[in-house]
Amino acid sequence: MSTLRLFYALWPEPDLADTLSTWAAQAQPHSHGRPMRTETLHMTLAFLGSVEKEIADELIDATPYHRLQPGTVTLDRYGVFARPRILWAGPEQTPDSLQASHDGLWLWLSAFGFAPPTQPFRPHVTLLRNIERNDPPADAPPPVTWRYDRMVLVASESTDGGSRYRVVARSKPQPD
Ligand code: ATP
Ligand code: MG
Repeated sequence: MSTLRLFYALWPEPDLADTLSTWAAQAQPHSHGRPMRTETLHMTLAFLGSVEKEIADELIDATPYHRLQPGTVTLDRYGVFARPRILWAGPEQTPDSLQASHDGLWLWLSAFGFAPPTQPFRPHVTLLRNIERNDPPADAPPPVTWRYDRMVLVASESTDGGSRYRVVARSKPQPD
């Protein structure tokens, strides 16, 4: 049975991705590790894992019609996930609107047979992999506000050079 490894994410516009790259560069002397490439930076909303092709095709067809309420999230801090050795940028507090979009997405996904995660939603953008210390840099760059109005469905594919992301569907942008 053929499958795709899928996740839903917010994808930054190039300017925001550039800014987040400078966050990665600023943290690197402290945390070490490997910066994510600028064009791969994203915020995961829902990780689906391995999905059978038939269901994947249904999701690809349905994704343009899932309404994502437009919102903003302000990234204002560095954080660390120690076990996967990741340094990230994220909000000090998860905005209610983003939490609601996350919850609404999982509710919608339940119609396709997916069960929501048991872990709480921790919105973040992974900046560095394989970091060498568990404390994040004390000071983050100036806060950056991310204005979003759509999400993307991404296939994560393993290649010789590591994982590669391929956008397979987008929700239609929603007016404010
Ligand atoms: P690799 O695993 O090859 O190092 P990757 O982590 O970038 O590369 P994926 O594992 O396919 O690629 O993950 C895609 C996205 O989903 C990433 O943002 C990742 O952090 C997130 N993700 C992966 N596994 C989970 C999980 N179990 N729960 C929540 N999010 C996850
Ligand atoms: Mg992974």
